[in-house]
Amino acid sequence: MDSSLKPVIKRQVIFVGASLGAGLLLTYFFGFFVGMAANVAIFVAAIFFIRWRQQKALRSLGLGSQTAGRGFEQEGVKLKYVCLSCGAEVKGTKCGACGSQMKKPLF
Ligand SMILES: [Zn+2]
Repeated sequence: MDSSLKPVIKRQVIFVGASLGAGLLLTYFFGFFVGMAANVAIFVAAIFFIRWRQQKALRSLGLGSQTAGRGFEQEGVKLKYVCLSCGAEVKGTKCGACGSQMKKPLF
């Protein structure tokens, strides 16, 4: 089940690597300070882009399959969910206590 998620993770790693490479190239061509500023900007943008992508993936996978949701958590996404109906901690996609799918993330 995890194998279906691996390509997504791999693409994200490649994406971060590519943005770092682009930052290094900018540093090389435009000098240290401009390059560093661009590097940081690209890196922050990449992180925001990945977070946005993960939220989208989580939403589509979380509603589809419980195994995919668990697999995603094991990949190091540190999000805790709390059931909206009974307040219990939710592992996976459904509340273990009442079976509700309504949950909210804790940060
Ligand atoms: Zn519940």
